[in-house]
Amino acid sequence: MHDEGRQLVIAVDGPSGSGKSTISRRVAQALNARYLDTGAMYRAVTYAVLRDNVDLGDADKIAAVADGVELVVGTDPVSPHVSVDGVGVDREIRGAEVTRAVSAVSAVPAVRARLVAQQRAIITESGRIVVEGRDIGTVVAPDADLKVYLTADAEERARRRSSENATDRAATAADLARRDRLDSTRAADPLRQADDAVVLDTTALGIDEVVERLRRMLDKVTA
Ligand code: C5P
Repeated sequence: MHDEGRQLVIAVDGPSGSGKSTISRRVAQALNARYLDTGAMYRAVTYAVLRDNVDLGDADKIAAVADGVELVVGTDPVSPHVSVDGVGVDREIRGAEVTRAVSAVSAVPAVRARLVAQQRAIITESGRIVVEGRDIGTVVAPDADLKVYLTADAEERARRRSSENATDRAATAADLARRDRLDSTRAADPLRQADDAVVLDTTALGIDEVVERLRRMLDKVTA
């Protein structure tokens, strides 16, 4: 068992629908640790960009929004929460408009610099935390105690997302494929598996099984 007093960082990366959020929250709860959803932060900045009617092709204006916005993100794995300029946006950031625009906003280097700095500060003050995203093991927390890269078949990922959001499966599959392509081909901090990450394909695994495997991996690295 790991010492609850010492710093512990678990990085969980992977494409959309690979199970990152569900698994990360469950592992954080099991370890009595905090949880950080970095995707929610990129979505919150995207919400502000759309709110301010900024052109998605205008990187300078997008960077200015990211710089000026007051972004507060909670780290409770039971009830994650994010607010923009004092307004809770948990529902809005999951909507189709934000989902369509988020990859363009998150490709802007100045947006990433601002959010990565905030993410590192949250990690430092949290002590024990599970952090999920696309670049956690490679950029945000390269010294994490455990790095996990979750994957799943594209079809299974679309099935999960469309049943979560009650959306059309074919449209969801197209959206996931588009975001995966943009997220993994952008110049700044693309979605990439860290060299020292453990890869776990969740296509045929239940949530409990994945959580259990991660706990076993953690016991090994912290023993
Ligand atoms: O995880 P989620 O699907 O909510 O992430 C939304 C988007 O935020 C991703 O498609 C990606 O463009 C961006 N993102 C990122 N880096 C992270 C987390 C998310 O670029 N660490």
